[in-house]
Amino acid sequence: MAVDATQPYDDQNVFAKILRSEIPARKVFEDDWALAFHDINPQAPTHILVIPKGAYVSWDDFSARASEAEIAGFVRAVGTVARAAGLVAPGYRLLANTGTDAHQEVPHLHVHIFAGRPLGPMLVR
Ligand code: 5GP
Repeated sequence: MAVDATQPYDDQNVFAKILRSEIPARKVFEDDWALAFHDINPQAPTHILVIPKGAYVSWDDFSARASEAEIAGFVRAVGTVARAAGLVAPGYRLLANTGTDAHQEVPHLHVHIFAGRPLGPMLVR
């Protein structure tokens, strides 16, 4: 079910549990600011999720409340993950679903990295 991006942070969401190592994930990167892991239900040959370590519901929440250091660290982590996976030359797509119309399912900010094939149009028409 899609989440309301204006709701308060719920520390029982699945990505909070992954951050606390309460449930497993196929991790590809971790630093002080971010954790990256493979999506459990990949929509492309490469489908990685990058999440901030801090408790932020959505892009809206993060961009409004995160510190400059958290924002810089997270943005750099997304780039580092894509670069380390060899995705710069072939190309990749970033997506951050925010709220109901975007069908955000997990109420902890995550950026999807899609790659590994021509990804087609930006949105289903
Ligand atoms: P959203 O629709 O919120 O942008 O995307 C949520 C993503 O999280 C989906 O692509 C879904 O497959 C992924 N996901 C949901 N639960 C888990 C989980 O427990 N582990 C991992 N690795 N991915 C998950």
